[in-house]
Amino acid sequence: MSYTIKEQLANSGNYGGSRNASQIRYLVYHYTGNDGDKAANNAAYFQRNIVKASAHYFVDDTTVYLSVPDLKIAWSVGGSKYANADKTGGGTMYGVITNTNSISIEMCDTIRNGVYQASEATLANAAALGRELMEKYHIPIENVYRHFDVTGKHCPSYLVNAQKWAEFKKRLEVKIMDNTPSGAHKEGVEWAVKNGILTGNSEGDLMLSQPVTRQQMCTMLHRLWELIERT
Ligand SMILES: [Zn+2]
Repeated sequence: MSYTIKEQLANSGNYGGSRNASQIRYLVYHYTGNDGDKAANNAAYFQRNIVKASAHYFVDDTTVYLSVPDLKIAWSVGGSKYANADKTGGGTMYGVITNTNSISIEMCDTIRNGVYQASEATLANAAALGRELMEKYHIPIENVYRHFDVTGKHCPSYLVNAQKWAEFKKRLEVKIMDNTPSGAHKEGVEWAVKNGILTGNSEGDLMLSQPVTRQQMCTMLHRLWELIERT
């Protein structure tokens, strides 16, 4: 995660009443539909203007703005189903996902180049924020959708393509760490980790049930030799 979180709440005329955490069952992604905007611009806009619409979060390359508190109902996915939804494949969750049971993330389009596309940094931040919300509110990956899936609106336009959406959702998969040794190996693993002989990957995964290559074995033996020399 590489964003700063800031808060600039929307005008209260842009969102609804309170809800409980247990009512939040879906996570919905959107795009702002502006070419070259920042989270701060959006947060300021929704504070200044009453437009009877809102989203909980706005995300750009560096910053996440909280615009509507999680436990308030944002007006993000309401409205009628698009007439062409049957043709486009959108709107399949219409009537199931509602403003009350969902939490919405809007992605900005930080590069003004005439193309609607979130930058890699914005996509990564939106995914990191999404993973946090999924964990906090126990939202399974099956309950993560696009605005497109709710009403058929082409939002986010660059994720309407099924393959692009599948690629984005991959970012939301929670990585399971393989760091718990079985009882028989507990003492050995703890010793090897404590003495720097067994190290994890860059994410801290020890991959305990994975096989060792010959070169990895050499490195571990070398670390052991250095340990013996030191002591
Ligand atoms: Zn949307």
